[in-house]
Amino acid sequence: MTKKFIGAHVSAAGGVENAPVNAAEIGATAFALFTKNQRQWKSKPLTEENISKFKKNCKELGFSPRYILPHDSYLINLGHPEKAGIEKSREAFLDEMQRCEQLGLELLNFHPGSHLKKISEDECLQRVAESVNIALDKTKGVTAVIENTAGQGSNVGYRFEHLARIIELVDDKSRVGVCIDTCHGWAGGYDFLSDNGYEESWTTFDELVGLKYLKGLHLNDAKKDVGSKVDRHASLGDGYMTKKTFERMMKDDRFNELPIILETPDPERWPDEIKWLREEAGI
Ligand SMILES: [Zn+2]
Ligand SMILES: [Zn+2]
Repeated sequence: MTKKFIGAHVSAAGGVENAPVNAAEIGATAFALFTKNQRQWKSKPLTEENISKFKKNCKELGFSPRYILPHDSYLINLGHPEKAGIEKSREAFLDEMQRCEQLGLELLNFHPGSHLKKISEDECLQRVAESVNIALDKTKGVTAVIENTAGQGSNVGYRFEHLARIIELVDDKSRVGVCIDTCHGWAGGYDFLSDNGYEESWTTFDELVGLKYLKGLHLNDAKKDVGSKVDRHASLGDGYMTKKTFERMMKDDRFNELPIILETPDPERWPDEIKWLREEAGI
């Protein structure tokens, strides 16, 4: 039985319906996508045609919504310290959630936010949770999936405690989850490479957050050393985390039945990276 679902963050250029096609072409059984231009606040609404073709392609190519992990726009800051900034972000996030609803998707991956040095980390986390509560109230069936960050700049979310704090403050616990980005975790100070570090990191994650909240993984090697707080992804085996980290993860049952998504910098290498991960997973 195949238990590891592996893919990459593929292009949706020309329409969301192209994402599953692009994913199938690289041998993926899971994928991530942007449902709108990630660098703009406003995008055209999805058309009936986009929606029906997306659903049809996913069905024909064998992608279940459970293994599709859409990512929200980089502009959104759900922990923004100022009124205008947070309102704009909350409105954009709701639009992202509604797009997922329209596409029949169940997950939406987002970066928690930044305090911009104007409020404390905890105040920022409280704002993020409130933003999630507002979006969950207005939508159905989509889980808000918090991604851990590298802790670059004033970003919150680089400690498992931060993820746990947001979850604690979200009212509907059945619709909140987390996605662990290995490069971000490493940059945030979690040693996934050494024997002790690997076990300790994931045991700590389970204790503080809980494996039941783990809804996806971003698999990236890191160009900077552990604890750097610098977010620079490397192709698997090209960075400090080395292939050993990812081999071990592919044999770890804690990561079964989740979308496992590459965000490594060279799309040309995705087919080989996926093939190698599948071999390590014994598929
Ligand atoms: Zn991300
Ligand atoms: Zn990521």
